[in-house]
Amino acid sequence: MIEIDGLQKSYGPLRVLDGISLRVPEGQVVCVIGPSGSGKSTLLRCVNGLEPYQGGSVRVDGQVVNREHRAAIRAVRQRVCMVFQRFNLFSHRTALQNVTEGPIYALGEPRAAAEARGRELLAQVGLAGREGSYPRQLSGGQQQRVAIARALAMRPRAVLFDEPTSALDPELVGEVLTVMRDLARGGMTMMVVTHEIGFARSVGDHVVFMDRGKVVEEGPPGEILTAPREPRTQDFLHRVL
Ligand code: ATP
Ligand code: MG
Repeated sequence: MIEIDGLQKSYGPLRVLDGISLRVPEGQVVCVIGPSGSGKSTLLRCVNGLEPYQGGSVRVDGQVVNREHRAAIRAVRQRVCMVFQRFNLFSHRTALQNVTEGPIYALGEPRAAAEARGRELLAQVGLAGREGSYPRQLSGGQQQRVAIARALAMRPRAVLFDEPTSALDPELVGEVLTVMRDLARGGMTMMVVTHEIGFARSVGDHVVFMDRGKVVEEGPPGEILTAPREPRTQDFLHRVL
């Protein structure tokens, strides 16, 4: 469903992605780990068309994600949603308004239907009763759960997560990971950049270790996280575990 082949991306002379190839099959969770600056965020941004790239290809459901094709990018953004490290909620909109904005204005859903579904989605992420709260009235973990509900409101085929818990206080991490775990159990296709090795181990179907713009090693979590073959993966895991 997400197919990345020989992806090359540079910022000026700096090569950030150096021939990345990987697959995210339908209904699977692929976790991407790696040191700071290895290109993880850039990879996600290329997948949903936020960044142009210079070589190789990214395809979602067979359709090439290419910044030159504006209509195609719009279609991909609707199919592949992204949840960021910082919650990026609209601060002057309530939780419910944050969730319904996209469906109403981008998908053209009737307001009443969007609101009914928005309430369901907020309940699904454990926020029933908080529809009228503004972001500043919510904890970081609650805001991040609104951000997940907002992504789901677009009826995506896949959700990309870029370190969704790393800006949270430790005691709030669990509630967000629980929502993500439920989403995975429900069959959502997910690509998750994370430093939460426990999450990658228990929820990931496949783990990819990246360093300096390359995939160094990939495989089932039981292999990559428990008995990595590559010294760079071993080093990294020693540092984060
Ligand atoms: P982290 O774990 O710290 O989030 P990352 O693996 O997500 O790191 P990226 O943010 O993808 O890494 O950055 C990869 C490289 O690209 C880094 O060297 C970074 O400095 C560089 N980079 C990222 N965005 C830009 C930009 N807009 N302009 C120039 N260089 C950039
Ligand atoms: Mg990053």
